[in-house]
Parts: sequence; C-alpha cells; structure tokens
Amino acid sequence: MTQAQEATAPAREGFDEITILWISEGMSCDGDTVSMTASAQPSIEDLVNGRIPGLPKVNLHNKVLSPAVGGEQFLAPFRAAARGELDPFILVIEGSIPNENVNGDGFWTSFGNDPDTGEPMTLNRWIDMLAPRAWAVVAAGTCAAYGGIHAMAGNPTGCMGLADYLGWDFRSAGALPIVNVPGCPIQPENFMETLTWVLYHAAGSAPPPPLDSMLRPQWLFGKTVHEGCDRGSYYEQADFARDYNSPKCQVKVGCWGPVVNCNVPKRGWMGGLGGCPNVGGICIACTMPGFPDKFMPFMDQPPGGSLSTMLIKPYGAFIRRMRAITNRTANREPKWHHKRDALTSGYDPRWRP
Ligand code: SF4
Ligand code: SF4
Repeated sequence: MTQAQEATAPAREGFDEITILWISEGMSCDGDTVSMTASAQPSIEDLVNGRIPGLPKVNLHNKVLSPAVGGEQFLAPFRAAARGELDPFILVIEGSIPNENVNGDGFWTSFGNDPDTGEPMTLNRWIDMLAPRAWAVVAAGTCAAYGGIHAMAGNPTGCMGLADYLGWDFRSAGALPIVNVPGCPIQPENFMETLTWVLYHAAGSAPPPPLDSMLRPQWLFGKTVHEGCDRGSYYEQADFARDYNSPKCQVKVGCWGPVVNCNVPKRGWMGGLGGCPNVGGICIACTMPGFPDKFMPFMDQPPGGSLSTMLIKPYGAFIRRMRAITNRTANREPKWHHKRDALTSGYDPRWRP
C-alpha cells in the first residue's frame, strides 16, 4: 500500500488482544482440549505465542493447559469477565449443559464456589453470566454443540447443547451466532482453523466464519464422510467388507459415512494420518446432532445401507469384471520392449535418404 493509500484507507476495526475463557465443567471428558493440542495447522502454541501474523494477542485460560494455576487464581479472569471487567473475550464451552432444574437436592456441575454463599457455581450459572458479555461463543465438540453422548436416551441429567440452552438465534456481543465445532472429539485442525478464523474476524481482517443451519463451519462440514472416503471406490464397485479386517468399504459392517457430515477421512487425524473408515474404523457419526442414539447399535448395518448396496450390486459386479480385464491389459508392457536384433517400435526414419 502506498503512503497516499494508507492515508485514505479506513482504520482497521479490530482487537489487538483478546482472552479465551474455556470452561469444560459440564458433562465433559476434556477430550476436545486434549485433541486440540494435536493440531499443527496451526498449533495452540503458535496461537498463544503470537506466531501467527495478523492475529490479536491471545490469553488462553483452559484448566487442562494451565496446570500451574489452580483454584481462585485460575478463576480470577472468569470472575472478572462476569463482573464486566474483562473485555473482549471468547467463551469456549466443552461438554454438554445439564438441566439444573432437575438436579434434585444437589448440583450436576460445579466450577468454583459462590463467594457469598459458599455453594457450588454451576456451569449453567457461568454461561448465564458470561455468554451475553462474550464477543464470541464457541462450542468445542459434539457434547457442547448438540448434547452428544451424555445427552443420550436414559441419561439422568437432562443435558443438552449450547444452542439448546442459549437459543438457536443467540447472538454474542460481537453479533456472532454460536460457532459449533462438532466431533467426539473435535478433529484437532478443524477446531484450530475455526478458532483462527474467529480470531482473524476479531482482528478486523476477515468476515465472520460461514456457518450452516446447525451452526457448523461450512467449509469443514459441508460434505459427507463418504464423499471424502478413500474406500468409496469399493462401494462404487459393490465390493463390501464382511469383517473389520478388510480394506474394503465398511457399510455392511456399520459405517454411517454416506449420511454423515464430517471431513475426517479426507483430512486424516494428525498430520494427515489416521481417521475412521479410511483406516478401518466404521463411522459412528460422532459429529452429528443425532449422535449417538440415531446411530446405535453402532456395529449393525445402517438401514439405508442394505437398499443402496442391493441396487448397486449388479452394476458394480459387472464394472468390476470389465475393469479387471482392462487392468490385466494395462499390467502388460508393449510388445516392442525387447532386446532382439530388430527394432519393432514402429520408428520410421523419414529424413534418411
Ligand atoms: S467405508 Fe463408509 S464412508 Fe467409506 S466408502 Fe464405505 S460407506 Fe462410504
Ligand atoms: S468419520 Fe465419523 S466417526 Fe470419524 S470423526 Fe467423522 S463423524 Fe466421527
């Protein structure tokens, strides 16, 4: 940018510093925090050490990643934010939110005590205090996004996802909807990419992250597992695994990939390695709002799978045979590759007299 352009350019509106208040004191296993530490693009260390150009300085408060700070010292920024003395901040919730209206004589959760009464302060109370003041609210993992495993049929806590608790039309102080990053746990880079986008938006240098109707980042959850699975060619040829040791398509042994929004098989888990159906683990739909009840029992064939595999069977078997014939031809070298005395490659030296 020239000096003249700099003089006329509107001032960038954004924050130079922002705090992340991360609470996992709901129905949570902390698996999303642990998963996040496996990200390399970017890594959490790069983020908090300011090694990513253009991002605000990030102050992260996450209990798993702050082992040296405990008790009231750890709670201090949370209490300051609740008093309106810490701004701006991003609230990250990990774990589902119980229904404290049905907690009997006790509390389903606790994150510090109320200084006035000495009674435990529930996750719900913290959300009530912090969410309206937060510049952005992020749900890390399927439990925080949609309720997840803890909200399955028969659970005693009546727990739910953040949007069920705050309302699907909730808007943060930064005018953002809740940003859901589902996954059980989150795929490391899916979460860090989303957080980085939110931070670039906070810096004033990016639009809000595009979300779908379930508040998921569109670029991560817009396609199905099946659309990114490298076993899809077995499916297309109607070549299905009958047990869990097979390298073939696993739809008949429980894979829900064709109807699940997730990019893990395409992306891998850590540094492109690992995944689910691509490496032999059926997709159990852990990113989905209907998880887990709509997909259990996991190791049974999905109901839709029998119809689609039946329809594709005659075509797939025929195509497989045809391809096998062409494959045999393609596996032979041309006949002019030899060491006999005569050249048989078809070379025609036209320019010779
Ligand atoms: S293993 Fe699952 S995701 Fe992969 S091709 Fe088969 S049905 Fe699709
Ligand atoms: S592929 Fe299926 S089981 Fe694996 S992370 Fe995605 S949704 Fe979960």
